[in-house]
Amino acid sequence: MTIGVLALQGDVREHLRILTACGASVRPVRRTSELDGLQGIVLPGGESTTIDKLSRVFHLREPLVAALRGGLPAYGSCAGMILLADRVLDGLPDQQTFGGLDVTVRRNAFGRQVDSFEDDVRLEGIDGAAMHAVFIRAPWVEQVGPDVQVLGRVEHARDPAAAGRIIAVRQGALLATSFHPEMSDDARVHRYFVSMVRETA
Ligand code: GLN
Repeated sequence: MTIGVLALQGDVREHLRILTACGASVRPVRRTSELDGLQGIVLPGGESTTIDKLSRVFHLREPLVAALRGGLPAYGSCAGMILLADRVLDGLPDQQTFGGLDVTVRRNAFGRQVDSFEDDVRLEGIDGAAMHAVFIRAPWVEQVGPDVQVLGRVEHARDPAAAGRIIAVRQGALLATSFHPEMSDDARVHRYFVSMVRETA
């Protein structure tokens, strides 16, 4: 089983490391041919507008969208969540996403005054202690379609506007989190994704 990490920009190395620790063989994906034979793909955190632009420059956008429509399992963290969303609020005017997740996300939703924050969150389907989640200029999910499963919400917000906001979702073979599990030593989200990939394969 090989899982790719879209390697146009962002925290690619962290995802490769944690997926390897989960027992997956991994491959950075920069060109179309590197999509061949993948059983899953991770869209990393970084800057969604940059990843969007580079995906068009490198002619990766079309084949990647086709692979996602064809059922390739994908996990997006932070910018990756934005890229999987069908609808974006507060994006750049020409910003496109790959889509697939029937959600509306708000980019940089938690506001400039709290560029980054941390919270202990519990995710449905992930057992054990609450997960220490790192949010960096993160999106939240503002609206979900009927087939989307909400896996987690902000639990201890300083800002009342952030309280209870959706920060983890799943729809079939697509998984997304607002936070960056690849930046902590907690491999449980990646393990969850690896098991989704196994189920699909
Ligand atoms: N704010 C970034 C964006 O719009 C996401 C930040 C992140 O991935 N840490 O893409």
